[in-house]
Amino acid sequence: MDDSATFVSYHKALMELSHDAGFIRQPRHHKLSALASLCGRLLEVERVSVWFFPPERDRITCECLYDKHQVAETGPQSVASGEKGLSSVSLYRSDHPGYFQAISEERILAVNDARNDPRTSSFNSDYLPSVGIHSMLDAPVFDGSRLSGVVCLEACHPREWTLPELSFAISIADTISLINTHEAWVHSKRALDFVSRFDTLTGLANIDSLKERVIHLAEKIRRRKTGSLALIWIDVDRLKAINDGLGPQAGDSVIAEIGQRLKALRLEGKDLLARIGGDEFAILIRHHTQADALNGTAERIQEAIRQPIRVSGQSLSISASMGICHLPEDCVEPQELLRGAEAAMYHAKNLGRARATVFDSAIQISAQSRFALERELRAAISGDALDVFYQPIVDQSGKTVISIEALVRWNHPQRGWLPPIEFLDIARGSGLMYTLGECVLRRVCKDWSTADSLGIHLPVISVNLSAEQVLTLDLPDRIKEICAKHRMPVSALQFEVTEDSIQGDFNTLAGVLETLVDAGAKLAIDDFGTGYSSLARLKSLPFSHIKIDRSFISDLPDDENDCAITLSIIGLARGLGLSVVAEGVETEAHEQWLIEKGCDLLQGYFYSKPQPFNDLMEHYFLT
Ligand code: C2E
Ligand code: CA
Ligand code: CA
Repeated sequence: MDDSATFVSYHKALMELSHDAGFIRQPRHHKLSALASLCGRLLEVERVSVWFFPPERDRITCECLYDKHQVAETGPQSVASGEKGLSSVSLYRSDHPGYFQAISEERILAVNDARNDPRTSSFNSDYLPSVGIHSMLDAPVFDGSRLSGVVCLEACHPREWTLPELSFAISIADTISLINTHEAWVHSKRALDFVSRFDTLTGLANIDSLKERVIHLAEKIRRRKTGSLALIWIDVDRLKAINDGLGPQAGDSVIAEIGQRLKALRLEGKDLLARIGGDEFAILIRHHTQADALNGTAERIQEAIRQPIRVSGQSLSISASMGICHLPEDCVEPQELLRGAEAAMYHAKNLGRARATVFDSAIQISAQSRFALERELRAAISGDALDVFYQPIVDQSGKTVISIEALVRWNHPQRGWLPPIEFLDIARGSGLMYTLGECVLRRVCKDWSTADSLGIHLPVISVNLSAEQVLTLDLPDRIKEICAKHRMPVSALQFEVTEDSIQGDFNTLAGVLETLVDAGAKLAIDDFGTGYSSLARLKSLPFSHIKIDRSFISDLPDDENDCAITLSIIGLARGLGLSVVAEGVETEAHEQWLIEKGCDLLQGYFYSKPQPFNDLMEHYFLT
């Protein structure tokens, strides 16, 4: 046969092997063995081996060997156990630098005289003579663009490798490269499938899987006109307190443990258990959906969660609030089942947690109004329709306005002026706090520049920031941008963050808050005394003011506890060199006591309620 006929016959044999459906379905090591053996037989060499780099990349390790003198091809185990010359299985880069360099640089290593070739002579001392090797033909294997191994042909006679042989060895190596690439793809696809269907912390199904399952089962019930489904929405109570107090890892351990317990729980009709949010799980129940059965089920779930959990050396007792909704009794659409169960869960929380509530018509009405309100709020935010009221903060004279606090208001088309308590929870629950904050800031800037254009220089405006905002690295840039648009300096602003909002990732929030202070803004810690306060955080973040929560002020000076707390906060502020603001000052008695104890600034109805911008201007600045 001439060269081209040989070339064609080799490649035809490879094509027949590698395009065979059976070959494609085989596990990796069968594929490698088949390729090695085909190569060995066609090229009539003594041995064909496939090697790969382990992650350390300091060596190559034999994964598969065809040996002409052994009856069958062998997998990696028999290489490791049986074969003399390859019994070490690994070849180290440090022992064979010339060889490693060559395989990483050359497309093919055709070594006719291996014992005298500088690329392979390092094998001389023990390996080549002992197995009688004279010639080698090595072709590198890739994983994507990265060298991942080598196919190695060995012959026991000095041999001039021909062009068809070189080409064939390269094709074998390329076929293995393709197998690698395909495997990597399958692997990442599987990982992706897993991530998109399962929760990584607990290994349970995620909300998408749950929704899919509900859709499937609801459709079945609709079609067959029989069967029933219940969804139990489980919200772990006070997980936030655990995260805040013991750190997010403790919170994760609690969630993982509860996930395991729910998984182990045998419940009648249990169909799917999913983790559907940070501290939320859901269980789908089929058929066993009569009221008393479900009440029993909910009790058993509560019991499982109630068993103490040991975390960070502490024993925690946890409870859950649950909401239950039925299909088809309470609803027909799959989405309604989820919403109904969630609404019932909220109801359980409002009733005082640690209980289960079954969906009913009253819950339905409040859930509907909540969803409607969320929709309207979203529209109000994106339409810049939220408003801001301002409340002065005065010095000890009670007359001089030192700063004004911006407080969001919503003039609802049907319900009139709504205070934040009516809609901030909804904004928080639907991830709207960040955009709400921007909307407020835009309004503040607009009002500031209105005053500016009238030649009035407003005192510092204090703006409340949410946790979502201070945990967003872009925040300072966004604030600078919005201010610049209204030609307002950032130093005309002060920001208030609550104790609760500074519990998140320290590096992020320190970066955000420091950048704001560097830009000239002041920083106050709000509602001080109510949250979980870490003195370390208070000290290491650039605060200049502490605001004492108004719950401590309202019963001054009669309530001894409140007096003691307020005094200690004033002392703490002194120690840290911060100014103290008392909020909720409503009476002369409050004012007197606070000034006596050294409180620097005062805010409350005693001086002024929050008022619309025009009223504020009229009362204080337009004379
Ligand atoms: P806050 O930051 O502690 O604001 C002070 C709240 O106390 C305001 O309630 C104010 O109207 C009220 N207040 C002031 N003086 C007195 C007083 O003498 N007596 C009584 N009983 N109350 C007084 P408001 O406007 O309802 O705001 C409630 C909370 O909503 C605020 O508490 C703040 O945490 C939040 N909030 C308001 N606007 C925003 C905002 O733009 N962004 C964010 N993230 N939160 C905001
Ligand atoms: Ca505030
Ligand atoms: Ca406050």
